[in-house]
Amino acid sequence: MDWIRAAMPRMAARLPERFQQGKMPYVFFFVAVVIAVLLTYAVVSPYSYASVTFSSLAVFLFVLLVLINRGFPLNWATHLGTGFGALILFYAAWSTGGVYSPRLAWMLILPLTPFYVIGRRAGIFWLLAVMLLQLTMAVSNQLGWIQSFETGMAHVPSSFLTYTLVTCVLIVVPLMYDHMYRQALEESRKHQRELEARREELEHTSAMREHFIATVSHELRTPMNAILGFNALLLAQVQGKPEALKVLNHTRQSADHLMTVINDILDYSQLQSGQLVIQPETFELRHTAEHAFELFKPRVESMDLDYRLVLDPALPVWVHTDRHRLMQVLVNLLGNALKFTHQGSVVLHVRWTDPGVEFSVQDTGIGIAKERQDQIFKRFTQAENDTQTLYGGNGLGLAISQKLAQLLGGQIGFESEPGQGSRFWLHLPLAVAAAPAKSSEQHQHQLQSAGRAWTFLVADDHPVNRLLLKQVLQNAWPHSQVLEAVDGQKTLDVLREHAVDLVFMDMVMPVMDGIDATRLIRQDSTERIRQVPVLGLTANVNPLDLERFKSAGLSGVMLKPFESAPLCERIEQLLVR
Ligand code: ADP
Repeated sequence: MDWIRAAMPRMAARLPERFQQGKMPYVFFFVAVVIAVLLTYAVVSPYSYASVTFSSLAVFLFVLLVLINRGFPLNWATHLGTGFGALILFYAAWSTGGVYSPRLAWMLILPLTPFYVIGRRAGIFWLLAVMLLQLTMAVSNQLGWIQSFETGMAHVPSSFLTYTLVTCVLIVVPLMYDHMYRQALEESRKHQRELEARREELEHTSAMREHFIATVSHELRTPMNAILGFNALLLAQVQGKPEALKVLNHTRQSADHLMTVINDILDYSQLQSGQLVIQPETFELRHTAEHAFELFKPRVESMDLDYRLVLDPALPVWVHTDRHRLMQVLVNLLGNALKFTHQGSVVLHVRWTDPGVEFSVQDTGIGIAKERQDQIFKRFTQAENDTQTLYGGNGLGLAISQKLAQLLGGQIGFESEPGQGSRFWLHLPLAVAAAPAKSSEQHQHQLQSAGRAWTFLVADDHPVNRLLLKQVLQNAWPHSQVLEAVDGQKTLDVLREHAVDLVFMDMVMPVMDGIDATRLIRQDSTERIRQVPVLGLTANVNPLDLERFKSAGLSGVMLKPFESAPLCERIEQLLVR
């Protein structure tokens, strides 16, 4: 059958236009074969009726082919051809002995054409019609309506031809159909393989993107850790020197701004890939609102603005949601309002809507043009084309805020009048939460353990990071000793030689990374090494990597850039138990 498969497309290309696609070439060849058979019959048949009837059927089929080529529906043509064929065959069988006639065998294959060309129901319809004709014929024979027919040698070749052709057609048609089916199957498999390849390519791209983001995140956060950390150390030392303070504050603000941009991009890509997870905690709502509000106080001081916070007295004291993400949305809304308001007021309202809490930031700023309002939550969108030049920003803030609002189970929206101002609101389904056992006030406490002489081990391949951490540790615990290691292997070596109270473990290091080193520490044969607290310090924010790191046996993990106060508190928690 392979030669047919190979020859079919070439032959199909030469057919009239309507017969070139899909099953049409088969229909054409089948009808052509039937016409040829009919014409052969018309010539060789010994019966007088044959030449007229068979050649008229051949002409009829030919006319149908022409009509189909001109657009006549294929299904109707098939019904007409089959119907006409049934009549001719009925007549041929009738005049040559009825049920005894070999011509009746042609009736067997009549339903095949509508079955394969049109479908199952048409096939069954014609099968029933043919059975009815056969029954009619038998009854007519029984009742003697059909003349008895002479048999003799003259009829042997034509009867033999009839049976041979019918047998051939009976197998050729299903073979053709089978061929068509295989071709369609092969095409669909090919399509599936293509889709599979596309899917793999997309997965690969997405994995590459995640890897890229993780690497970039690490690469950016590592120097930021040093910049912010040393800046903070210097700030503590230059109190009373206004000039130096001013410069360092500028550096701090710029570095903070850069961190916001880095975080925005990372957050956005994690939100896109569904990796960002909400970490709810119980906290005091007022404190968080005040904290977000206070953050902008220094900036507002140089502006002529009425900057206010209005808290509803009915607000619940404790609520349970992701405090960090709520802060992020509030900071974005306040930052935007202050950026786009030059005079008048910016007011943060926090209202109890029973149930839920509405945070709204009302400003009297430039507002947003009506035609841009429905675009504002889309990524990289800014209200005007010159917004970037005039005000800066990356157009990600609101897109992230909207996704975060959804993740927190709430909604975000705004009303804005160009030239008059805007009101952005965030509604969260917050309920009154029970106060946690430990008050967050305790976070503000002074270090109790400042006099202790601990031995710390800092494992980090970056000398600047080691230096920074060393300074922070020695500022907080002046009597302590800080050992250093540049990779996981060296960390294990130092641990074997010295009694260490706490290990700070970087995640990405050459030779042996922090994950493997932590795992080996936890499996060590020496009890002292096995039990040492290990605090992960990493610039990698990929949740999957963090999870791997934690499950290697960390006692805790903190992200770089770290702030010294929370870090020191954490150390104290781990060591003073
Ligand atoms: P950006 O970092 O550019 O501020 P956002 O997603 O936070 O990105 O905001 C998108 C755009 O929405 C802004 O560039 C600005 O055109 C418009 N916008 C947001 N908040 C305000 C506001 N309070 N007043 C006027 N325009 C605003």
